[in-house]
Amino acid sequence: MTRPTMEELRAQLPWRGKYAAPPGTGPEGKTCHDCAYLIYTDYRKRHPKCGRTKYTHGDATTIKTRTAACRLFEAEPAVGGASALGGME
Ligand code: SF4
Repeated sequence: MTRPTMEELRAQLPWRGKYAAPPGTGPEGKTCHDCAYLIYTDYRKRHPKCGRTKYTHGDATTIKTRTAACRLFEAEPAVGGASALGGME
């Protein structure tokens, strides 16, 4: 039996390096787009990245924002809503 190459191992875990955990293991119906950890790097054009990973400047760590959320998903904090104002308007 031969040992798998690094490329074969990477192919088995396509989310590694891009996503903090396997996509689809998070809350039902949520995507990276809804997550507080989604960030955009702005070099020559906007690249969405997962802020919980060691992302690089290259496309290898660029994520798709419509990917199903992973188990490390965290909801965006409410901005200007009732919870941000302690229940007051
Ligand atoms: S759901 Fe959030 S933590 Fe998980 S991969 Fe997407 S942006 Fe990263």
